[in-house]
Parts: sequence; structure tokens; C-alpha cells
Amino acid sequence: MNKAQWLTALQDIFSQPVLADESMQRHTTWKIGGPADFMVFPASEEELSKCLALVHKEDMPWLVIGNGSNLLVGDKGIRGVVIKLAAPFSASCWRGEQVEACAGMLLSALALEAAERSLAGLEFSRGIPGSVGGAVRMNAGAYGNTIGEFITEVEAISHNGEPLTLKKEEIQFSYRDSSLFKLPAVITRVRLRLQTGDKEEIMAKIKNFSQRRSFNQPLEFPSCGSVFRNPDNDHAGRLIEMAHLRGMSIGGAAVSKKHGNFIINLGGAKASDVKALIEEVQQRVYEYSGVKLATEVKMVGEF
Ligand SMILES: Cc1cc2nc3c(=O)[nH]c(=O)nc-3n(C[C@H](O)[C@H](O)[C@H](O)COP(=O)(O)OP(=O)(O)OC[C@H]3O[C@@H](n4cnc5c(N)ncnc54)[C@H](O)[C@@H]3O)c2cc1C
Repeated sequence: MNKAQWLTALQDIFSQPVLADESMQRHTTWKIGGPADFMVFPASEEELSKCLALVHKEDMPWLVIGNGSNLLVGDKGIRGVVIKLAAPFSASCWRGEQVEACAGMLLSALALEAAERSLAGLEFSRGIPGSVGGAVRMNAGAYGNTIGEFITEVEAISHNGEPLTLKKEEIQFSYRDSSLFKLPAVITRVRLRLQTGDKEEIMAKIKNFSQRRSFNQPLEFPSCGSVFRNPDNDHAGRLIEMAHLRGMSIGGAAVSKKHGNFIINLGGAKASDVKALIEEVQQRVYEYSGVKLATEVKMVGEF
């Protein structure tokens, strides 16, 4: 199929417009990234399933994104189909201490809903700007907790369009990682179990974490949060600051002066600026302390 035929075939599946050559700057918190060949917004599991079956049959590459808050998209963009769950995938359904959350919902919204119901556990996640699906795949975490601790079940549509359900015991969660990365599938909904707590205490915890974030993190600039994984028993930010790299910049990208593990977009940064800065930081930290920093951010597309 040529490009026009692909556009027609995809549009036949979706109720929402299919976008061609959509700039990924609009879909990443770094506000960086070249165009995606096609971008689709499934509004139901049926649409998602049909799309995955089609791209699987035609051997077309695809990528699912959440809120784009952990992605560095190359300046040449993404070949194939980018899938972003549409608004109907932002719902949640509460039953006592359990919740079923759709994967497109913002994690911070889920954390607030839990707090309003006096349910404890997700306070750590109120300031994480990811979707539920992205957070579960990444095993997002902060202040000593991770989302994986609260998961009981994950539902997904596999790469050939088939639905699947995974129980907690079938998923391995580790530091900013999960076995879900090995699964070529789109997470559609997750089930979590929380614990009844004291609403005032829960709200106070959220307030405290949010004050710590505003104090420590350069939230006024586009970023993807921590760029590097913390090495065992240390902090990437500390190593970067020790190597005197705060404020170092390449093009429009700079190591934040406020937090060494944040690379910020000062305005007009290219993915190539960020990538070059990441490599420079890795090299200099290695020379200074002998530690090889690995990235937490996922690099996707063509650079
Ligand atoms: C200011 C700021 C602060 C941050 N603080 C934290 C923090 O404290 N802790 C932390 O862990 N992270 C933090 N992050 C990083 C980021 O928010 C998390 O990694 C988040 O979980 C990513 O979710 P997302 O929806 O944006 O995923 P994306 O960035 O869109 O995608 C991340 C990965 O998940 C996959 N994915 C997304 N949706 C799905 C789905 N439905 N099914 C299958 N795979 C999917 C993508 O393919 C990709 O591989 C921060 C980021 C920012 C900008």
C-alpha cells in the first residue's frame, strides 16, 4: 500500500481523524520530535484491535505512546503508525479499595481520585505526568513507591489484535522497568488495589511531595523528568553535579541548574541536541567517577 492507501485504510477503522506527518513535538513533554507517518487515536478496543491486526498483517511498524513524558523522539520522526489512546480510554471504575483504570488516563488524575476516596498508596504518583499505561509499562515510581506494587491485573491487546489478560504473578516489575516491555501489545486497562487510609494524611502527603518537586525540579521548562537511571546505591543527579555539568548546554538543550538529572528544552531544542548532550554527560561522568550512566528515557524514531 502507498501512503494515500494507508491513510484510507486506517481512516476506515477509526472514528477520530487519522493524522499524517503529525509533529511529535505536540505529543511529548520535551516538545521535541519529528513527524510520525501516521497517528491514530483508538476510541474503543475494537478500533485498536482492528488497527493492530492490519499493521501486523501488512508488517507495518507501530508504536504506542502515552503522554510522551518519557520519550525522546528523533528529529526525522517515526516511521509507521503511532497509537495514542483517545478520551474513552481515560475512564476509571471504583469498587471499594479496587479500581479499574483505562490506560489513557493520567496517573496524576487517578492519584487524586484515590485521595478523594480516602485510599492510600498512589500519593507518590500525583506529580508524575504520565498515562496509566505508560506508567505501568515503565513501573513509574517516586519517594519509595512504584505503581507495580498496586497492580493486580493488566489487560492489553496484543500485536495481532488479540485481547489478553495478565495477572500480577505473570508480570515482573523492577526499577523503572517491567516484563511488559517484552510484550508486543497495547495496555488498555489495569486493575489496582489500594488501602483505606486517612484522607487528611493522604492529602498532606501529596502536598508534601508536590512541594518537594517544585523545589527540586525545573518544572517551568519542558523536560522528560530524570534522563538517567540511578546507578546502584547512588543518584545520577549527584554524579552529574559532582562532574560540574549543571548548566552545560548543546543547542537548545541544557542540563538543568536546579537538578542535574533533568535535561531541559530552553526553546527550539532538537532531539539531536538532547542526544549529543546525553552522550557528553555520559562521557564526562565516566571520566570523573568511572560510572557509566544508562538512560531512563526511551529514544524512539529516526535521529
Ligand atoms: C516533570 C517530570 C517528572 C517526572 N517524574 C517522574 C517520577 O517521579 N517517576 C517516574 O517514574 N517517572 C517520572 N517521569 C517520567 C514519566 O512521566 C514516566 O516514565 C511515565 O510513566 C511515562 O508515562 P507516559 O504515559 O508519558 O509514557 P510515554 O513516555 O508515552 O511512553 C513510555 C513507554 O511506555 C510505552 N507505553 C505508553 N503507553 C502504553 C500503553 N498503553 N501500552 C503499552 N505501552 C505503553 C511506550 O511505548 C514507551 O515505551 C517524569 C517526567 C516528567 C516530565
